Amino acid sequence: MSVPQVIAAPTTERGSWAEVTPEVLYGKLTTVARNLWWSWHPEVVSLFRDLDPVRWRQLDHNPIALLAEMTPQMVADRASEMVLYTRINQAHRRLKDYLNNTSRTWAAREAGVLGSKPVAYFSAEFGIHESAPIYSGGLGVLSGDHIKSASGLAVPLVAIGLFYDQGYFKQHLNDDGFQQEEYLNTRVENLPMEPAKDPNGKPITVSIETRGGTLLAKLWLMHVGRISLYLLDCDVDGNSPEDRELTSRLYGGDHRTRIRQELVLGVGGVKALRALGITPGAYHLNEGHSGFAPLEVIRERMQDDGLSFDDALREVAQQTAFTTHTPVPAGHDRFDAGLIEEHLGPLRDKLGISHQQLMGLGRVEPQNEHETFCMTVIGLKLSRRANAVSSLHGHVSRRMWANLWPWRVEEEIPIGHITNGVHVPSWLAQPMWALYDKMLGDDWLSKNYLVETWQRITRVDRGELWETHNALKSRCIEFVRRRLSRQCRRRNESEAAVDAARFALDPSALTIGFARRFATYKRADLFLRKLDEMADLISDSKRPVQFIFAGKAHPADEPGKKLIQKIANLRHDPRFGGRVVYIEDYDINVTRHMVQGVDVWLNNPRRPLEASGTSGMKAVLNGGLNCSILDGWWAEAYNGKNGFAIGNGTQHVNDEITDQRDSDKLFEVLRDEVVPLFYTRDADGLPRQWIEFMIESIATCAARFSAHRMVIDYARLCYLPCAGGMSSDMNVR
Ligand SMILES: *Cc1c(COP(=O)(O)O)cnc(C)c1O
Repeated sequence: MSVPQVIAAPTTERGSWAEVTPEVLYGKLTTVARNLWWSWHPEVVSLFRDLDPVRWRQLDHNPIALLAEMTPQMVADRASEMVLYTRINQAHRRLKDYLNNTSRTWAAREAGVLGSKPVAYFSAEFGIHESAPIYSGGLGVLSGDHIKSASGLAVPLVAIGLFYDQGYFKQHLNDDGFQQEEYLNTRVENLPMEPAKDPNGKPITVSIETRGGTLLAKLWLMHVGRISLYLLDCDVDGNSPEDRELTSRLYGGDHRTRIRQELVLGVGGVKALRALGITPGAYHLNEGHSGFAPLEVIRERMQDDGLSFDDALREVAQQTAFTTHTPVPAGHDRFDAGLIEEHLGPLRDKLGISHQQLMGLGRVEPQNEHETFCMTVIGLKLSRRANAVSSLHGHVSRRMWANLWPWRVEEEIPIGHITNGVHVPSWLAQPMWALYDKMLGDDWLSKNYLVETWQRITRVDRGELWETHNALKSRCIEFVRRRLSRQCRRRNESEAAVDAARFALDPSALTIGFARRFATYKRADLFLRKLDEMADLISDSKRPVQFIFAGKAHPADEPGKKLIQKIANLRHDPRFGGRVVYIEDYDINVTRHMVQGVDVWLNNPRRPLEASGTSGMKAVLNGGLNCSILDGWWAEAYNGKNGFAIGNGTQHVNDEITDQRDSDKLFEVLRDEVVPLFYTRDADGLPRQWIEFMIESIATCAARFSAHRMVIDYARLCYLPCAGGMSSDMNVR
């Protein structure tokens, strides 16, 4: 689907547009703006941009905020001037058709069993678009991509999350290069949300008993294509001032804040579904944050069907799937017995179980009084299907949780894996999209989970692919320069510094991108361990290398902030200035620019701590090559000619040795493989072998790491069996 041609002739419209009043036109645009479907349709994005390109950028690409600044007459005037009538009508009609026609979708053919009993998908964050700041990083973007693909495939699914009115923080660096956090209040009226209503049309508020009083949460509804995303929000009358702020910030506060948020997400989420009149056929707990949800479902089953606790638990577990996302210990929430009793006590009374029994559900050794309550453990105990998010992460998770099944050998630990994927249209640059339209045949997008769909890319004209990539690279560098000069201006730096930022980076140099959370295990500074060698590589006059960095550190993560500082301050070092740059305030918009434009996507975590990683998959779609430690998804994707491996996957007993060896390997692969391949050109100036790598990367990775493939796997291996459809065993290997 490429950007449609503007058709100026009014007679091509359905009906005559002479009859279209400004109000009707404005109404159609508003309808489109209120479903995040628009965000993965480039022709609709460009339509909003054309209404007012400057404000569009200033308003974080938020069409509701943009329309709020315009009257219907202003929109109509702009539409005449820019000949937008046809495009507005088309966008509106496409959205309507999309919502009304599901008969030719994957789920209509393969997932009929789910029918009126949808999957309830729980996640603490959803990254859908930069204008809806209710995500922090990879987990949220994955949830966003999951529900977008569920929408595309028409899998019956409702999503449950929390509404954070201050979201995650906005990041900037002070003069010293140290991260500063700023929390802004999101204006609810500028988000595509409305109060969710019960079947009688009444707005929904759920209440949750704790030992310390009742906690209330109201419910919002956000439309993401065909998917309803329900968000719980504690900012309601009747809550204490402290509780009103409970859901203000993502991953803010202490343990008590955290357990209360998770209580709202899990228990509140199940109550919300009941108030909506939705009876899920399956429950999917995306990460341990929602681990309390099955307890409330068990309570419902005991009350509705007169089951005993044990029987209800068995049946609910049969309906529940759990996904674990990290082997990093700090990534698994743990609560002490006091917090559990305070928050789950009243529910425990209704379940008729003792405090010890409840604690036992969150412990590896149920009787061990010293063990805290772990959300991953309850997730594993209350679900019959559990999975990790890559093959390697499956191995690591089975070993990590083997003590839960002490009588089983490791291969029989019931944790499988479903490797993550990315939502293709959300990350694909428009020019690449146009190229795929030409090469891959009709319907390639809806069949993007099939390996054969992408095989035809092998026939692409090498020069055309290279030109397309270079155009995207220039666009990325333009974006980076704009951001850098803005950063300089904010720090009140000299005009000379602002000017230098305007000319940072060289559009013809080998460009390496690194953007993700600055968690220390991701080792953003690995390349600096060989400082002098790297400096030589970077400033090589014939074959220069340059780096673009971005990423936030968690507000409480001092070592992570020091990493940022170290890299950002390289700009003061003449060997690196203008060649190693750091972009502030990483978000979905920055990701999109970076993954669409860089030559190489770098990922060097300490193996095996990167459960999957997804940003590299986004680069693949746009012709970027991955250069990565053999960890997470790359351990199963790398084949020797579709990108680069740092080292060979060996692990060392101690971090210091591992880091030293890995930095040696990183330097070697850059010097001996990446740089020569990129700079070896033929008579036409084409890096022939490099382009072959790009094609091999797309052909071997695009289908396997698409979110459509991922959601289909979840449907087959989890949702259908959970909902009582055909059963299928997860690949445990
Ligand atoms: C894709 C994405 C991530 C995931 O990064 P990985 O380190 O590859 O897991 C994080 N944050 C944002 C904003 C993203 O778009």
